[in-house]
Amino acid sequence: MHEASAIESVVKIVSEEAEKLGAAGRVRTVKLVVGEATGHLEEALVFYFDVLGKGTAAEGAKLEVSYVKPRLRCSSCQKLFERKRFSFDCPHCGGQGVATKIGSEFYIDSLEIEDMPG
Ligand SMILES: [Zn+2]
Repeated sequence: MHEASAIESVVKIVSEEAEKLGAAGRVRTVKLVVGEATGHLEEALVFYFDVLGKGTAAEGAKLEVSYVKPRLRCSSCQKLFERKRFSFDCPHCGGQGVATKIGSEFYIDSLEIEDMPG
C-alpha cells in the first residue's frame, strides 16, 4: 500500500506544474524514475495514479515508470556494481559491497504537456 502515498505526492507535483503552465496545457505523460530498492510495483503505481489522479490535472495522463537497479560500492576497489541476489561480493575483486543511494530513487523525470488549441 505504500505506493498510494508515493503516488499522492506525484499527483500533487503534477497538479502544481500544470497549474504553473496555465489551464491551456493537458498532461499527457508523466515519467517516473523508481529505484528497485523502494519495492514499488509498476502495476500498483499505475493503478494508484489512475485512481488518485481523477479530478486533477493528472487525470487521463499516462504514467511511465523507469526502474533503476540497486548498486553497491566496493569497500576495497571503490567500483560500483549491480547487486546480485543474496550477494554483496564485488565482481571485480571479491571485496564487500556497501549500499549506496542508487536504487532508492523516486522522482518525476519529466512531464509531457500537450497544448490545447484555443
Ligand atoms: Zn572490488
